[in-house]
Amino acid sequence: CGIVGYIGNLDSKEILLKGLEKLEYRGYDSAGIAVKNEDGIQIFKEKGRIADLRSIVDEKVLAHVGIGHTRWATHGVPSRGNSHPHQSASGRFTLVHNGVIENYDLLKREYLADVSFKSETDTEVIVQLVEKFANEGLSVLESFRKTLTLLHGSYALALLDAEDNNTIYVAKNKSPLLVGLGDGFNVVASDAMAMLQVTDQFVELMDKEIVIVTKNEVTIQNIDGEVISRTPYTAELDA
Ligand code: GLU
Repeated sequence: CGIVGYIGNLDSKEILLKGLEKLEYRGYDSAGIAVKNEDGIQIFKEKGRIADLRSIVDEKVLAHVGIGHTRWATHGVPSRGNSHPHQSASGRFTLVHNGVIENYDLLKREYLADVSFKSETDTEVIVQLVEKFANEGLSVLESFRKTLTLLHGSYALALLDAEDNNTIYVAKNKSPLLVGLGDGFNVVASDAMAMLQVTDQFVELMDKEIVIVTKNEVTIQNIDGEVISRTPYTAELDA
């Protein structure tokens, strides 16, 4: 399973699909991408191979922002409906997740009793919580942070907000995730190999950090909101 993300000047679709192909070795049963442009967020996802996903992606959609996912099902059967990305009730937030949320059932009952869920995944709880807190008036960053403080388990996450064309929100805990730096773009990946196609400069993330990724900037914060500075490293080109 794996995660990729791209934000920058180029069209994101091909970069995401190529990235997901590089992550195929990790094993998966389904794959999906969400791309965002002025027309909104479009999701393409399918049970099966990246080649199956590729065949349903609309070539005509151009988008400078996108996230992608290969799923290794832990909660909910492999199916199109359980494939990532997942969206919040209103469609405002779109999320990919690798890992397992151990307390998802409790969170569902405690915070989201009135929300009708679209999938059987543990993941959907995360994106529904972000929307709940945003609806209550928190900023997206604060909603994301509050959600993370409630989660028990492992996660690598990439989140899009339909009301913001310029940001990918990222976080990790006990699941791998890196940010890659480019000139006029930035990327996200579970493994540097997925994004060596566009950069060899990567920043390691620590557990419980949140990263705000725009095309020109990468801001890492700890769970308390303090900004962390970290030097990138050069990934081996033959990795
Ligand atoms: N637990 C999530 C699911 O079953 C994510 C699985 C993964 O890491 O791909 O959908």
